[in-house]
Amino acid sequence: MGRLVVVSNRVAVPRELRAGGLAGAMQAALSQRGGLWFGWSGRIAAAPADAPRMETVGPITFALTDLTRADYEAYYLGYANRALWPLFHYQPNLVEFSRSNLEGYLRVNRRFAAQLAGLLRDDDTVWIHDYHLIPLAGELRALGIGARIGFFLHIPLPAVDLMAMLPGHRRLIESLADYDLVGLQTPADRHALCDYFERECGATPEDGGMRLRNGRSLRIEAFPISIDTALIARLAASGSTHAATRGLVASLQGRALAIGVDRLDYSKGLPERFDAFGRFLERHVERRRQISMMQIAPLTREDVPEYRELRERLERMAGATNGQYAEPDWVPIRYINRSFQQATLAGYYRVAQIGLVTPLRDGMNLVAKEFVAAQSADDPGVLVLSRFAGAANELSGALIVNPHDVDDTADAIEQALAMPLEERRARWRSMFDHLSRHDIAAWRDAFLAALEQSRR
Ligand code: UDP
Repeated sequence: MGRLVVVSNRVAVPRELRAGGLAGAMQAALSQRGGLWFGWSGRIAAAPADAPRMETVGPITFALTDLTRADYEAYYLGYANRALWPLFHYQPNLVEFSRSNLEGYLRVNRRFAAQLAGLLRDDDTVWIHDYHLIPLAGELRALGIGARIGFFLHIPLPAVDLMAMLPGHRRLIESLADYDLVGLQTPADRHALCDYFERECGATPEDGGMRLRNGRSLRIEAFPISIDTALIARLAASGSTHAATRGLVASLQGRALAIGVDRLDYSKGLPERFDAFGRFLERHVERRRQISMMQIAPLTREDVPEYRELRERLERMAGATNGQYAEPDWVPIRYINRSFQQATLAGYYRVAQIGLVTPLRDGMNLVAKEFVAAQSADDPGVLVLSRFAGAANELSGALIVNPHDVDDTADAIEQALAMPLEERRARWRSMFDHLSRHDIAAWRDAFLAALEQSRR
């Protein structure tokens, strides 16, 4: 078996704590098989380096490249995070498109390809991740790379009419045809991509994918990403006795806890969640003082204006709700802008009665799966989950809500608090069994097996 080479915009540099689904999933995927992980170091340099910096830790060799300030602004902040991210998350009103950002995006993909090509062997299996690097396979092919190359999109793939709002969309999406396999999170995302190829590019559906006008076949499949279920369950069981968890429990003074854990991002539906919790307290006077909500929201992409605005908005909202309802010995919303280790989070999930996962759109949402994995079988908490999270396809034991409907989410919080133990156990069991079978290793193996079978 040849090497596995993973490529993602950002590499989780050894010893770095990163909040985010992709980094954790890649670490888990590479730690077993070993291999090479290529991508951005997170550093800004005065000039692009000729070759990446190499560092080996255990079974993983990291190949790290720096970005220049201009590349960071055009490729990362500009095109990836102010055009592709909002559009793919169904927020076209937030899209900021400029040709110079698109040029930066293409330039960085070209540079990544040039640096990576020097490290590749023909029998490598190359697995490229996410929206930052859609054109990378085309650039590698142009340099004569014949290795098998797969792509996985971690974020949603929007409906064709939304996609068509992006200037130059066809060039971008058609470049996916340079891969041997394209993986998406859900069957709905897969359907959207096939629909795009059919309507915009004249391709025709065939078994496992699309036949393109040039006669080539493109394999397109859904591979819902997952978590290391057994690990999270173990961390949660041991974490529940750790000092951090004990301190949290003591501070609750017997009250219930509803927990939310999300990067501070407009796709996560945080203002709607704060509103829903406020509505719940407004309508259920008897529940006041019985429950606190703890929202952990590490800051990300602080150089993007929409994220700074969201931060200010949430600070105002949490302050207003607390000002309205807090008592000397009870605060309704605990709002924390820092990240925590997964072991600490697992302990927190374990002692929470409710997990609030209410994104407006989310490719998968691993926190939803981690919350389920962390519960105790005897006395599990209840997951309140947005229908617009990819995870809603699989976690049917959750209370599924429409995050735009504040009353719907408020009702679900009450339903979760009042839910009898037997029902909580039955709902949790079905989800936990599913996650035990469909864990991160199963996801990685399914993708790589499909990629091994895909021949150009
Ligand atoms: N996470 C973490 N520490 C934090 C907040 C989040 O380790 O303080 C992790 C969380 O456990 C999960 C990931 O970051 O594994 C978030 O993934 P998700 O799919 O929920 O959302 P994303 O951030 O990728 O949009």
